[in-house]
Amino acid sequence: MNPLYDRLFGAHEGKSTPFLLLPSGRVLTHDDFLRMAVRFAHVLSDAGLRPGDRLAAQVEKSAQALALYAACVQAGVVFLPLNTAYTRDELAYFIENSGARLVVADNAKEADLRPMVEGLDARMLTLNGDGTGSLPEAADRQAETFPTAERSADDLAAFLYTSGTTGRSKGAMLTQANLLSNAETLVEYWRYTPDDVLMHALPIFHTHGLFVASNVTLLAGGAMIFLPKFDLDTIIARLPEATTMMGVPTFYTRLLDDDRFNRDLTQHMRLFISGSAPLLAETHIRFEERTGHRILERYGMTETNMNTSNPYEGERRAGTVGFPLPGVELKVTDPDTGAELPRGEVGQIEVRGPNVFKGYWQMPEKTAAELRADGFFITGDLGVQDDEGYVTIVGRNKDLIISGGYNIYPKEIELVLDDQPGVMESAVIGVPHKDFGETVLAVVVAGAGSAPDLDQLQSACAKQLARFKHPRKIVLVDALPRNTMGKVQKNLLRDEYQNAFAEG
Ligand code: ATP
Ligand code: MG
Repeated sequence: MNPLYDRLFGAHEGKSTPFLLLPSGRVLTHDDFLRMAVRFAHVLSDAGLRPGDRLAAQVEKSAQALALYAACVQAGVVFLPLNTAYTRDELAYFIENSGARLVVADNAKEADLRPMVEGLDARMLTLNGDGTGSLPEAADRQAETFPTAERSADDLAAFLYTSGTTGRSKGAMLTQANLLSNAETLVEYWRYTPDDVLMHALPIFHTHGLFVASNVTLLAGGAMIFLPKFDLDTIIARLPEATTMMGVPTFYTRLLDDDRFNRDLTQHMRLFISGSAPLLAETHIRFEERTGHRILERYGMTETNMNTSNPYEGERRAGTVGFPLPGVELKVTDPDTGAELPRGEVGQIEVRGPNVFKGYWQMPEKTAAELRADGFFITGDLGVQDDEGYVTIVGRNKDLIISGGYNIYPKEIELVLDDQPGVMESAVIGVPHKDFGETVLAVVVAGAGSAPDLDQLQSACAKQLARFKHPRKIVLVDALPRNTMGKVQKNLLRDEYQNAFAEG
């Protein structure tokens, strides 16, 4: 028994239906893909990996990289994909911290990674990195079968490091059941079928591209246009082949900035989904005006996969992340007491369900602090659920500003600023202040056309917000710092402006 393998991969054995549509025009069928995975499973086994061992991979997105995931599931090896943007120092930490027994890298990175592996109880293998080759040691393997490792639903399937938006990334331990339960729910919720072709331009070292996008497609038996990265020309050229797209908000704003992206190009599509970061209501509206489609926004995280989704049928409400998914319990609690708050009140979001991870790798204290004994996980996000059940994310607990004893939610101020003429987007942070502990600083990016008038921004805030929420300072910048998932890195902004109100 190996439920994850059987459902996602084994079920497609022998099928000559298209699975991966590559940028080169090459198409891999489900069966082609599985044979690639089986060869890799042999390689892992020959390298001495046994069920429960960990494999860390820092490889560019390719069919092979995804086949490595399938091979790990089949061989019972815990898959640990690493962000391709990690620096040497970060990589050295993750490779050592994870206790990986096998490290897989693209040929081009071999020289970088090999020294990190030396001295550890680990081996190293390389991929060709062009999406066509195979692991060197697999080149002459023609094996057609691999004895699928026995695994139960509670066994670990993957370690995924969080995005590191609020600090150092943590390794989230995910079981087969975590991944499978979520994929099953989403296939049903989003009406996924074998006829679906997903525009997949997300990275596969992150929960969104790997577990949401790929697992859903695999479980449904559909296909993916599998692009190594978000490339406007390719996406526009190949959109006619797709039925659905999953992306981060920046994908959608970039598409909207291109005149070729219009109703004709999208009328055959059945679904556009956004997640990983807040989708501005303005993007939502522009998208609908341009294409007639309402983007479906959803909310998830590395530790829990997906928590909520706007409905497939029914109103997709801009600015909200929809309803808790079937099987997922969500409550909003008081950050100080942990007591559940009534609907309509802002508090910390907690979730419980088969999607919730087993804990952070080698961080028992952090795990105990965030994963309650009753199974609820404290997400670190602040939010509110309205009477109808729609959930709105208000921000992160760590971004909450406490000024002179008042709680200030940055998003409330950001919404006012974003609404003003000349403003494209904004990020509001708390910075140290000798009288108030913290005070409000707004970082604003100008839109196309004339720059916003800072006095006008101040007076808009004065009109719409209580005095203690007014930004004490507004700075104009060209762009906000974002990580590879398009998330605004407020910790970098806080570092940059920490002395904004220092004396002298
Ligand atoms: P770290 O935990 O290392 O600081 P991270 O939380 O950004 O990084 P991920 O697990 O990739 O790492 O991201 C999950 C977070 O992304 C959520 O906790 C939430 O803050 C944010 N997020 C995801 N989807 C949405 C959404 N639709 N709207 C607003 N925020 C979202
Ligand atoms: Mg997080």
